[in-house]
Amino acid sequence: MNIQYTVSLYNPHAHIFKVTLEITKPDSAGQILSLPTWIPGSYMIRDFAKNIINIKAQSNNRQISIEKTNKSTWRIEASDTAIFIEYEIYAWDLSVRSAHFDISHAFFNGTSLFLMPHGFENETYSIKIEQPKDKKYSDWKVATSLGRKNVNKSGFGIYQANNYDDLIDHPVEIGTHSEFNFSVENTIHKMTLTGIHRADNERLKQDLTKICQTHCTMFGELPELDEYVFLTMVTGDGYGGLEHRSSTSLMCSRDDLPLTTEPDEPNEKYRNFLGLCSHEYFHTWNIKRIKPEVFLPYDLSSESYTRQLWAFEGITSYYDELALVRSKIISVESYLELIGQTITRVLRGKGRLNQSIAESSFEAWTKFYKQDESAPNTIVSYYAKGALLALCLDLTIRKNTDGKKSLDDVMRYLWNNYGKKSIGVPEFEIEKITSNITETNLSSFFEKYLYSIEELPLADLLAEAGIIFNLRPTTSVDDKGGKAIANENQKKAVSIGARLIENPLGAKITQVFSGESAEHAGLSAGDIIIAINNLQVNKSSINKTIDSYAIGDELNIHAFRRDELKVFKLKLNPAELTTCYLQVDNQASTIQNDKRKSWLFL
Ligand code: ZN
Repeated sequence: MNIQYTVSLYNPHAHIFKVTLEITKPDSAGQILSLPTWIPGSYMIRDFAKNIINIKAQSNNRQISIEKTNKSTWRIEASDTAIFIEYEIYAWDLSVRSAHFDISHAFFNGTSLFLMPHGFENETYSIKIEQPKDKKYSDWKVATSLGRKNVNKSGFGIYQANNYDDLIDHPVEIGTHSEFNFSVENTIHKMTLTGIHRADNERLKQDLTKICQTHCTMFGELPELDEYVFLTMVTGDGYGGLEHRSSTSLMCSRDDLPLTTEPDEPNEKYRNFLGLCSHEYFHTWNIKRIKPEVFLPYDLSSESYTRQLWAFEGITSYYDELALVRSKIISVESYLELIGQTITRVLRGKGRLNQSIAESSFEAWTKFYKQDESAPNTIVSYYAKGALLALCLDLTIRKNTDGKKSLDDVMRYLWNNYGKKSIGVPEFEIEKITSNITETNLSSFFEKYLYSIEELPLADLLAEAGIIFNLRPTTSVDDKGGKAIANENQKKAVSIGARLIENPLGAKITQVFSGESAEHAGLSAGDIIIAINNLQVNKSSINKTIDSYAIGDELNIHAFRRDELKVFKLKLNPAELTTCYLQVDNQASTIQNDKRKSWLFL
């Protein structure tokens, strides 16, 4: 084979991998090598090459020159014989996006480790993962969906990738993780859990099987896979996931995992973890195979712009939770709570009035992925509002076709005509396809809700399925919504309109919501409120203090801006009605109830 990589677990204490790349027949004009600047699925330039150290090249047993030509690219001295490039990678980013290596485990994405040999992007590659020699690591084993060629029972040895895209699409976990297998559509599915945990594997296996099967049934089949692997890193407070064609990397908090005492109806944390697994698994079809045209192939040297992330992340976010209720893992009430929370997240931010979801998608590189304190006021999430758009689209299709068609038909069409055939989806195509297969003109729907900032017609559409849409004031910034609260009408709720966190001095403002009291008073993100009406407050007491006042009251607020003490006059406004909860309408007609049943598979 022309291209061979060898990965060695070189120095766990310094978090350094060593990679040797052998190119038997290099470009005789001088081999160019580069590392991706971003990883598919995470739309931000991360410049992984910054972690490469000590790179050198050899040919015919002599050192040859290597010149860096830009931040991620090298040119090797011209050679007619095989060249060997050796380099080290610093790996100390505990995330699903890059690489992490210490005495407890090693994890990497190919985008962090494998230099791409230009001109050979479509060749078959060999990858050797060396077993560490130190006895301390004798019980380490390898988990990855990368094609196995010749590996020992711990998984060390030779792997193979069909091309560079394939090479970087299989994250690798090495260590003493626990694991279990389950079968879906006659294909082995593996879950590995790295880190200290007490998860009830049987429960996880049972629930994951149902979720995966629900997605396969909806699409009509599982794409052709040798196996599917969930690589999970368990930490104290982690959360995140990144999709791949036949695996996913996940991070969760150990409290997210079910214990043997987990009740039948999953608690909120476990429900979130199942939602995360469901989300990444849905991507096996939607974005890893059904893809925006611009991602085929990926240009990993710079940003790739698309207005379609609402469909690839929003629709995926819609189905990740829908699958939980359709597979009967959660109750209808629990599902409505989840939608209520998503609606609350979108309504809390006035950014939805400044940016459409199509714009949010296009600008993901500089806005969604680079959020600062202004985010709630300036941008909208193509995940959250995208999921609600998908919900509205599904209910609209059902309404317009008298229940004969749904978003499921659109997804199956996209799978059969694009994903399965490796054809990219052009911009604006999904809107046309949706109109065509449902035989209704949906262009004004997309114009209003996707390309403009009009509020989604959630209340009307949910009512069709016998669901009541309610809004109430928020009780605090920690109030995620989704649930009714007792006595909500007894007192007119007040709010200062700011997000606060704990600080040794008092309560620190992290965000000020546009148009609300804190902004009118002149308070800003970074200010630390230390007293209200001359009495000391902190994060745990401030809400109680504010709640003890009425609409129209004026508060004297002492706060530090940097190291300067300032006084602000804040007039309390009513809390905005941005917290949503949904309820099944007990008075609903049989037609409404039937619609709900056919939508949620009840
Ligand atoms: Zn996603």
